[in-house]
Amino acid sequence: MDVQSVVIVGAGQGGYQVAASLRQSGFKGRVMLIGNEPGLPYQRPPLSKGYLLGKVAVNGLRFRSEKYFADNAIELVHAHVDKIDRENRRVLLRSGGDVQYDHLVLAVGGRNRRLQVPGSDLNGVVGIRSLADADELAIRMATVRSVVVIGAGFIGLEFAAVANALGADVSVLELSDRPMGRAVSRETATFFANAHEKWGVQIHFGRGIEKIEGIAGQVTGVVATDGARLAADLVVVGIGIEPDVGLASNAGLDVANGILVDGSLSTSDSCISAVGDSVAFPYSATGQRLRIESVQNAVDQARCVAARLVGKPFPYGAVPWFWSDQGDLKLQIAGLLNGYDNALVVGSLEQRSFSVLCFREGRLIAVESVNRPVDHMAARKILAGERRPTYDEASSSNFELNGWAVG
Ligand SMILES: Cc1cc2nc3c(=O)[nH]c(=O)nc-3n(C[C@H](O)[C@H](O)[C@H](O)COP(=O)(O)OP(=O)(O)OC[C@H]3O[C@@H](n4cnc5c(N)ncnc54)[C@H](O)[C@@H]3O)c2cc1C
Repeated sequence: MDVQSVVIVGAGQGGYQVAASLRQSGFKGRVMLIGNEPGLPYQRPPLSKGYLLGKVAVNGLRFRSEKYFADNAIELVHAHVDKIDRENRRVLLRSGGDVQYDHLVLAVGGRNRRLQVPGSDLNGVVGIRSLADADELAIRMATVRSVVVIGAGFIGLEFAAVANALGADVSVLELSDRPMGRAVSRETATFFANAHEKWGVQIHFGRGIEKIEGIAGQVTGVVATDGARLAADLVVVGIGIEPDVGLASNAGLDVANGILVDGSLSTSDSCISAVGDSVAFPYSATGQRLRIESVQNAVDQARCVAARLVGKPFPYGAVPWFWSDQGDLKLQIAGLLNGYDNALVVGSLEQRSFSVLCFREGRLIAVESVNRPVDHMAARKILAGERRPTYDEASSSNFELNGWAVG
């Protein structure tokens, strides 16, 4: 069917990119971007980093100005989509009314997982997902003295570094024995745990949370599973997200841990595609189904869907990459760590500039770079190809990732 109108639900990273890529690819039909957050579409990464430090202003978060949307005939609609009527190819808005589509793209992201312990609804227990959350946090940070962060994932640790830099006493409670879960190698995890400790952030590993305490509705502290009590006038919960699959599953689309799509990002209805955090897709390198929460994933999937809609389809197979800024450390990861069995450090841990090369059965599968952006860019090129350095080659004294990529 000739697609004349594309409706995109969710005006975040992926949704904005679908609209922008459609226009860049010369799509002449109607493009409507429906989002339930106020204002112009914006990027989330600075919310746990530079925005709270005052280094990025609100205008710096916006992907584009109002004029861009008008000039490119991208209809930006502020509304919540309640339902998809697949039979009649329309979406129903909570505010009333409906919108017809030839093709629908779901870019609905996810919601912060909620803590299921007593006290989690106290004033001062917050998460970070939206600009509204970050604005609320910024106000609280002006008076806060002690912060407890629940979860030593990327966002929790980024915020911990920011709160520490702003002068708060910061403790982090982490159930497992290492930061950033299975997403980074043990080498990188250990390095970051030590770095936070040096900055003065206390990370308590192997400790869950029993309850959150408060007085007159306001949080005052956290009780860990081992009985330890940590004072807090702010608790930031960073225990991951749940993909937003409700709209898709109510419409009868296949969902599991995410909206299920095929290798071209089409859902079980060929008139509906899905991109970004909410999507579980077959990872071309291994065939396993994955859900990835990153800017790269949302952007590249959006480009892939837009290309298909203008008649230039290609299977989704981008090399995943990700970054996290914690204090003065920039961590950049290319590839996925899944099941690595050997790691090699190049560069210098002492000088805080190194890369960890991760291998599975002798094949390079991921590279984590700390304060080494040149390595990261080289790693992305290497991992996109078949010719990769072996462990022995990478162990040689004159080995450089960058040299390998251009050689
Ligand atoms: C604080 C923070 C820091 C991050 N830092 C990094 C980083 O350093 N590096 C990195 O790679 N990634 C980072 N990420 C992750 C990255 O921002 C996400 O992976 C990316 O935004 C996913 O894009 P998306 O379009 O899938 O979802 P989102 O950007 O979340 O957009 C989804 C949008 O859909 C809207 N929506 C949902 N349902 C409906 C509905 N029914 N009707 C209308 N609108 C709806 C939502 O409100 C939301 O606005 C960070 C995320 C956060 C929250």
